[in-house]
Amino acid sequence: MATSVRICAKQFSKKYSTLSSAMIFRQLFDTVSSTYTYLLGDQSTRECILIDPVLEHVKRDFQLTKDLNLNLVYVVNTHMHADHITGSGLLKTISGCRSIISKSSGALADIFVDEGDMISFGNFKLKVLNTPGHTNGCCSFYIAEEGIAFTGDALLIRGCGRTDFQEGNPETLYHSVHNKIFSLPESTLLYPAHDYTGRMVTSVDEEKRLNPRLTKSLQEFIRIMNNLNLSYPKQIDKALPANKVCGLYDLPEDLKDGL
Ligand code: FE
Repeated sequence: MATSVRICAKQFSKKYSTLSSAMIFRQLFDTVSSTYTYLLGDQSTRECILIDPVLEHVKRDFQLTKDLNLNLVYVVNTHMHADHITGSGLLKTISGCRSIISKSSGALADIFVDEGDMISFGNFKLKVLNTPGHTNGCCSFYIAEEGIAFTGDALLIRGCGRTDFQEGNPETLYHSVHNKIFSLPESTLLYPAHDYTGRMVTSVDEEKRLNPRLTKSLQEFIRIMNNLNLSYPKQIDKALPANKVCGLYDLPEDLKDGL
């Protein structure tokens, strides 16, 4: 019995990546928009970044960087979000970090990135993969050494981002996922920008086998995406104008208190 348990554990660790002890990793959540924010830090240099911070949680996230004795160098957005206001602007104001977003996003930031660019913090490098289709400026970020990728809204767990507003295009999204995300090693762990049912992480292997939309043909995928009949995003009218200017727009005074 003990032997078979050991064998299973061995097979599992081979199949899916595990983070090295050199990286500090935290997954944070916003219950209103079901957004995940990721804190990635380098254990040795103490530099860290935040991916997709949410305005209402800036205090929480910034406090966590201080609690862990980390120095926030970049706030990175996977795309110009429509469902929440980014925390990038306020984090820049309080910490002096710089913001990063895709060149094609249509949003302001300190640094614009494009396919193949590398975002460095400490000894780690995030490779930028352009994965448009949900929006024109959607990016995924891949850390080859750790076997992890952050897919934004291009690929969600057993799903994908909607394609019915903000330059959405199902054919483009299908090619982004198949050509970029599904071409990563199958053991790669994928961390999405959202989950609405409490799941936190998936893998290339799982999504290639089990994603109910992206395992279909292109034509079937387009048909599915064009018939989702989703409701108008609740926060879009305030989120887009704010996110276009890196979240530096009419920041509520109460959020700045104590920062
Ligand atoms: Fe989105």
